[in-house]
Amino acid sequence: MSSPSPTSSFRRLLTIDDFEIGRPLGKGKFGNVYLARLKKSHFIVALKVLFKSQIEKEGLEHQLRREVEIQAHLQHPNILRLYNYFHDARRIYLVLEYAPRGELYKELQRNSTLDEQCTATIMEELADALTYCHSKKVIHRDIKPENLLLGLRGEVKIADFGWSVHTLSLRRRTMCGTLDYLPPEMIEGKTYDEKVDLWCIGVLCYELLVGNPPFESSSHNETYRRIVKVDVRYPLSLPVGAQDLISKLLRYHPSERLTLAQIQKHPWVKTHSRR
Ligand code: AMP
Repeated sequence: MSSPSPTSSFRRLLTIDDFEIGRPLGKGKFGNVYLARLKKSHFIVALKVLFKSQIEKEGLEHQLRREVEIQAHLQHPNILRLYNYFHDARRIYLVLEYAPRGELYKELQRNSTLDEQCTATIMEELADALTYCHSKKVIHRDIKPENLLLGLRGEVKIADFGWSVHTLSLRRRTMCGTLDYLPPEMIEGKTYDEKVDLWCIGVLCYELLVGNPPFESSSHNETYRRIVKVDVRYPLSLPVGAQDLISKLLRYHPSERLTLAQIQKHPWVKTHSRR
């Protein structure tokens, strides 16, 4: 199968007739994702089909446009490629890189935790991907297992830029979904910067190794309270090296958090990562 350079083959106007549609890969809130293949080149992709009516009903045109613009400009092995997009009267189509091993979230549900090797590898991959994002002034703000897909060799792919922002145009929005990954400065409505992503990957590292996020509580208020107090309990089963890393990311003051470069050099990451 040829795998043409996406830049040469995709930067043109496509229509749905250019694709053979395969099995559904999953359902999202605004439409479905299908395995698909370009008829001409046999290049395999994931085709995300969104209904304009639903996007408009929720007033998400701007957010979607921004997500698409940001993701289309990022090219990194640990960031899901958005090759192209097009639309017809009723639908918007996103031509995405296919992630054959699906969601990290499901992997975590199946096994309840990941081992040190997998987790350290993911930490190194995310540190590298986020270094790239931050160099382009993009902060993700929403790193969590639901937004991470897995490539053929199990490598992580950041998939959802629905919440990401260009740091030059910071906007506040109402929150929905899980609060577990929110950093203190976002909860307290302060200005924030790319260091929010360091907090999120600290929460992720904890959840992957322990099986639940560190501030999980029975009510939203309690979760908020525990986050701003940085009330973390480290189970005895947690390896000391991992605890050292997590405790240096879950810092109330953003400036005290390890940098992405320091994560990649951290002894626990270096010992266990297979990257
Ligand atoms: P979403 O609308 O992005 O939440 O996608 C719905 C579901 O489709 C996800 O939960 C994944 O299981 C699956 N999916 C989405 N994008 C891809 C992709 N690029 N490769 C493989 N599976 C995907």
